[in-house]
Amino acid sequence: MSSKLIYVTRKIPESGLNLLREKKYELDISEKDGVLTKDELIRDLKRKPYDGVLCLLTDNITSEIYDAVGTAKIFANYAVGFNNIDVTEAKKRGIVITNTPGVLTDTVAEHTFALIIAIATRLAEADRFVREGKYDGWAPELLLGNDLKGKVLGILGAGRIGSRVAYHAKRGFDMSIAYYDIAPNAEFEKECGAKYYSSPDELLAVSDFVSVHVPLLDSTKHLINKERLSQMKRTAYLVNTSRGPVIDEKALFEALRDGVIRGAALDVFENEPKVYPGLEKLDNVILTPHIASATIETRSKMSEIAALNLIAYFDGKTPPNQV
Ligand code: NAD
Repeated sequence: MSSKLIYVTRKIPESGLNLLREKKYELDISEKDGVLTKDELIRDLKRKPYDGVLCLLTDNITSEIYDAVGTAKIFANYAVGFNNIDVTEAKKRGIVITNTPGVLTDTVAEHTFALIIAIATRLAEADRFVREGKYDGWAPELLLGNDLKGKVLGILGAGRIGSRVAYHAKRGFDMSIAYYDIAPNAEFEKECGAKYYSSPDELLAVSDFVSVHVPLLDSTKHLINKERLSQMKRTAYLVNTSRGPVIDEKALFEALRDGVIRGAALDVFENEPKVYPGLEKLDNVILTPHIASATIETRSKMSEIAALNLIAYFDGKTPPNQV
């Protein structure tokens, strides 16, 4: 078989790239250490007759991109989410799309839990307090937070990541688990003692912490909006490590500012990398820059999985993670 020509839209950990090199594929890796604009991506893809593309969640893969690189019949996304890719259009054109599921489940669940603990214990706020020289001695009511034990954790989307967060909450912190998902999951209910609610509204009303784990779809955009925020307990916390547009960020800002809910912790934003103006000034929100899967171990494994999807395709097999 002739050598394959692959375009990689940004430098990723070497382990996967080395697997491609071992197959003697020729790799062109974008030299820009940043997100390519649409025009830059089209320009680069037009340079050579690429057989495949390894792309990132920051690349918008649409008809225009498919047109620019008519030769490429596979786009391997370096992410589990694939809302950045027009999959319907790809299918029409016989283009294969793959993702990297599973491997980041534990890492994202751990980051989610870090956010849950951090917002409940006011960790980031307390750290700022000390750094700003405000700590002048122990005080009985200084920076009081909330316990997790006995509280209800509401999981919105009990798939791989959501169910893993629930597992940690149940086993490690004695929390009660409630969930809403379009598909009830009997196994999950048994494993975590989780109680199913048949609408997001009911789930929001009973939860002390709500952790969002649905994919971004037309049906999940602004799933958490002003009205739903007002259904939450005033003492509740909202955590989002899924995709930013699932939450109406303006409505969330207003709810946090006005005390409609107690706090939030966000790893993803509606218009990344922008953060809704004013959110950064609030003490009751923790903001991390889309790093929930960012461990050395996981980012390397993601690189390998994206590579193995490409290799399987070019070996004439069905890629393990075709979407
Ligand atoms: P998954 O497919 O295993 O789980 C998603 C769950 O959401 C499924 O159980 C599905 O039935 C449910 N769901 C779908 N539509 C729904 C709706 N309208 N209402 C309620 N439930 C609905 O996915 P996963 O591996 O758990 O990942 C979840 C999401 O997390 C990904 O789609 C991705 O966007 C995001 N993610 C973010 C990061 C990050 O770095 N912050 C990393 C990995 C994944």
